[in-house]
Amino acid sequence: MSTFIPGPHLLESPRGRDWPRLPAAPAPAREPVPPSRADVVVVGAGPAGLAMVSALWHHGVRDVVVLDRGGRPCRRFFDRIDLLGQRVLRSPYEHHPGVEGYRDCELLDFARLHWARLTPVERREVRMAQAGHRSVVPVDVFEAYCDHVTATHDVGARTWRATVREVLPGRSDVTVRTDRGTVTAQHVVLCPGEERREAPHEWWGGGAAPPGVAYWDERLPSAGERQVVVGAGLTSAHLISNALAAGREVHWVIREPGERYQCADVNSKFFRPEGRARIGNVGWDDRLGLLAQFRRASIMFEFRPLLERAEAEGRLVVHRGEAVTGVAAATGGTALVRLAGGQRVGGDCVVLALGTTPETGRGLLPEEVVGERDGWPALDERTLAYTYAPRVSAVGAAAGMVLGPAARNIDGHRVATARAADAIARSVRGGAPAASPVRAEVGAGV
Ligand SMILES: Cc1cc2nc3c(=O)[nH]c(=O)nc-3n(C[C@H](O)[C@H](O)[C@H](O)COP(=O)(O)OP(=O)(O)OC[C@H]3O[C@@H](n4cnc5c(N)ncnc54)[C@H](O)[C@@H]3O)c2cc1C
Repeated sequence: MSTFIPGPHLLESPRGRDWPRLPAAPAPAREPVPPSRADVVVVGAGPAGLAMVSALWHHGVRDVVVLDRGGRPCRRFFDRIDLLGQRVLRSPYEHHPGVEGYRDCELLDFARLHWARLTPVERREVRMAQAGHRSVVPVDVFEAYCDHVTATHDVGARTWRATVREVLPGRSDVTVRTDRGTVTAQHVVLCPGEERREAPHEWWGGGAAPPGVAYWDERLPSAGERQVVVGAGLTSAHLISNALAAGREVHWVIREPGERYQCADVNSKFFRPEGRARIGNVGWDDRLGLLAQFRRASIMFEFRPLLERAEAEGRLVVHRGEAVTGVAAATGGTALVRLAGGQRVGGDCVVLALGTTPETGRGLLPEEVVGERDGWPALDERTLAYTYAPRVSAVGAAAGMVLGPAARNIDGHRVATARAADAIARSVRGGAPAASPVRAEVGAGV
């Protein structure tokens, strides 16, 4: 069997092109703080929040307040991507924050409409997508498309910059406390995404990272000539290729016996209904097993030739199967990593790319409402409402135990929003959310 490995040239795509915008609607005169009441509050304006508001828009639910720390749709997503110098998405053209069952201008249509702005390589990828093959989407196209979805579903005008501190479910509404006032709504949808995974406490005793050590989503300390990268995923691959391109020697520490290359970060079968059924039809322990197996770190195939060549040339030294036991500052502003085998790997800076962890609602909702089990919230499988608070739903990575590993991806959000928006729209149009006996019972005590 021969394996086709797409080349690293697919990773290169211009960034910051000027895309034609829809004529801007006149900015409404509005209070600098969010309104005190709304039908629905969406917490988080990332791709999941954007998909949710668009879905509600199609259902005719327009009295929606979106609360986001950054105040602009999808900002954190693109800030993270740009910090890594990532130029293409990992997900293909079919994955975009659209709405299931409603045919808006889709991401592929959008790219074709702007054909003249695409490079020859980007046009070839569009043709690949049209032919039903795996395709690579430029970040530039995706950002312009998100702006388009934001404009066509009036999301910008409904988004307020606010940090949500507390979400308190009541019997007939939900109170959302923020640093910029309180909003009461019939329903709240939590779309807070994922936070970076922190280093284990024992690596340096907790608290701020030692000098010379940074996480992947921070600006790097002075990079020098030699850099250490810890982690096995796509983020590590970006950090390594950036450092190699800058002429640095890179030491790469991977706990697993070897790196894994894969197109999407989740096996593509989990993006299809039969893949989701696979998780939906098994018990809790089997679901945990599937998530552990299929949420493992992996790298886009396009990086493989680049990393293998750098290793063969000695510019990249890979420490495979090595668990980190400690990270510390060293002399002259440098830093070092201690490995379980006793070896120490030093560099001018150490960058940690340890993945992300889903926000489950913990810290926002009362603990008993989250109902966490093995780190996952208790959600209704049909509506993604919290089992113990039917007026609050979760869309995004937190829905992993219902939708499988694809819940954290752009395509998973589309499936999640279809379920949650439908239930919320029915409730807003008339009557209480459908409550299971368990929810009604526990909800009464909340
Ligand atoms: C570098 C990188 C590249 C990726 N590439 C892809 C890809 O190509 N394809 C793909 O499908 N997935 C990709 N992912 C996964 C990706 O994270 C998700 O698809 C997407 O960002 C998730 O959207 P989200 O809305 O759930 O989360 P986010 O994009 O993180 O948005 C959540 C928003 O909620 C806000 N928020 C959180 N808590 C609060 C609070 N208490 N109050 C107010 N606001 C709050 C955050 O500030 C943020 O703006 C990538 C992830 C990373 C890190």
